[in-house]
Amino acid sequence: MRLILFDVDGTLINTGGAGGRAFSKAIENVCGVPDGLRDVRLDGKTDFLILREALEKAGKQNEPRLEERLFNEYMRLLENELASNRSAYEVLPGVRKLLVRLKADSGFILGLGTGNVEPGARAKLEPGGLNRFFGFGGFGSDHLDRTDLINTGIERGLKAAARDSFEAVFVVGDTPRDIIHGHEAGAAVLAVSTGSYSLPELERCNPEKAVPDLEETELVIEFLTGSNS
Ligand SMILES: [Mg+2]
Repeated sequence: MRLILFDVDGTLINTGGAGGRAFSKAIENVCGVPDGLRDVRLDGKTDFLILREALEKAGKQNEPRLEERLFNEYMRLLENELASNRSAYEVLPGVRKLLVRLKADSGFILGLGTGNVEPGARAKLEPGGLNRFFGFGGFGSDHLDRTDLINTGIERGLKAAARDSFEAVFVVGDTPRDIIHGHEAGAAVLAVSTGSYSLPELERCNPEKAVPDLEETELVIEFLTGSNS
């Protein structure tokens, strides 16, 4: 059996910036810091890492319970942002078809590998009806470090599949961080340039395969079936 861990933003869906806006407003509402995400690049980072960078830039100490308050506010705002910007939300090309195919194939088990806190990931996948494909995952709420959260996703996959090992583990993601940390966790990486990185930028990080999008279902499945990690 082969495990495939999917990143969320820029890989499965595009929220039209809902996550970033919710984050930025949460920092403003809770810490009184406007535009806290200015100069903070979000892609591929875990939520708590983004938060720490933003607080550091604003010269704020990370006081006890601050993260919890920020994340409660973030979740509230994220739900609002997603509900009020539905026209900007999209499931990325080929995603739904690929997930249906993989889910129906007993040779594969699907999970998430994302820097989002789990409730954030679930809220973002909900409008696209994609949560049903993913029973488990490694999340930004599990670890600050992306390699660690991918490893947690693999452990949960082993538990879900009731086995000791997988024939191969894949990470599918849209940023250099998905590639670097996927490799660190021992996974083969399928990079997809539907996020904010171009195909050449991703190829420079040496993923096992890089594609413009997930539209070519057969080509993607061929790679996932034929490649080992
Ligand atoms: Mg991403």
